[in-house]
Amino acid sequence: MTAPIAIIGTGIAGLSAAQALHAAGQNVELFDKSRGSGGRMASKRSDAGSLDLGAQYFTARDRRFAEVVQQWRDRGWVAEWSPSLYNFSEGRLLPSPDEQIRWVGTPRMSAITRALLGALPVNFGCRITEVFRGERHWGLQDAEGLSHGPFSHVIVATPAPQATALLAAAPKLAGAAASVAMEPTWAVAMGFSEPLDTRVEGCFLQDSALEWVARNRSKPGRESSLDTWVLHATNTWSKQHLDLPKETVIEHLHGAFAETIGCAVPAPTFSLAHRWLYARPSQAHQWGALADADLGLYACGDWCLSGRVEGAWLSGQEAARRLLEHL
Ligand code: FAD
Ligand code: NAD
Repeated sequence: MTAPIAIIGTGIAGLSAAQALHAAGQNVELFDKSRGSGGRMASKRSDAGSLDLGAQYFTARDRRFAEVVQQWRDRGWVAEWSPSLYNFSEGRLLPSPDEQIRWVGTPRMSAITRALLGALPVNFGCRITEVFRGERHWGLQDAEGLSHGPFSHVIVATPAPQATALLAAAPKLAGAAASVAMEPTWAVAMGFSEPLDTRVEGCFLQDSALEWVARNRSKPGRESSLDTWVLHATNTWSKQHLDLPKETVIEHLHGAFAETIGCAVPAPTFSLAHRWLYARPSQAHQWGALADADLGLYACGDWCLSGRVEGAWLSGQEAARRLLEHL
């Protein structure tokens, strides 16, 4: 039997590649340092129900992605979310409706990657520290000192700063990954026992520490006894306050929320903060994916295209396509 293909990262990029390779009859084996799949599309289970702390929704502008999202909808993995949208700018909160179709995973964002993973072999809680080349095959070393392999090819599907070290065997690819800066985002979730007296379900903000707020409970399929909200700080604010304790971040962003939302905001019954160190690439690229086909080493992720769910999915498809064309 030929050795399987290793995929490091079970975010949407890694799972997009895994699905394409599996559909082409290839064996894959996945690795992720986290306890579950999803990466930046993960949802946090909490006392206030499940909360989408990373990606809030996604749009499908590319025809191939739009087609696959329709299939996901038919299978019940995603649904349209049509929030009552607002915009906060120059101190004014105004309705800002539009025609854009926005999708969310149901009943939580991580439902998508969970469904894509299906029964594919995966190693969770396994941080890969090194990708090394043997005589004929690839091997992986993890943070516990264990080796995994042999593998015929390796796809690195992590954020660029984490991909750089894993791509050391292909200096050109490592150099490209190292050139990508990624910006942080502080995310805060809050739950209120009494619903806030506002029509806002999603709001884009300017001139604030916050760039986005969403009423998590307004998304389809979210069950919660609390009125749950997710707040995202701007990249600039997040960078300036990167090392603040979580309680202080919650306090600051609760204040910014209260200043903008246009209704009384009491102390939340429930709150948590999460720091995304590598939330989004500071600029878009047109790489599709990175490949050293002779070596059999590939990289994909949102940072190879647009820093969005759609870009990450397309990048995974591109990595798989380039690998398959060199078999
Ligand atoms: P990731 O999701 O980051 O997956 C990489 C995986 O690799 C992770 O699971 C990680 O645990 C794993 N990993 C990393 N290093 C290792 C290692 N050494 N060993 C093993 N595993 C490793 N996009 C939108 O389209 N709409 C939005 O509304 C939106 N909002 C966002 C809000 C926030 C706060 C953030 C952070 C992102 C948002 N995005 C949004 C962007 C979107 O989430 C990403 O573009 C997309 O999820 C990236 O997918 P990916 O597979 O490339 O990377
Ligand atoms: P989109 O078309 O809904 O939004 C793109 C951008 O257009 C928004 O950020 C906003 O500035 C503006 N916009 C869209 N509709 C608006 C409206 N009705 N009123 C006012 N402004 C409006 O979605 P997309 O292009 O798929 O982008 C995905 C979203 O993910 C963006 O909002 C982006 O900021 C966000 N994102 C956040 C992070 C992070 O780290 N926080 C990372 C990646 C993506």
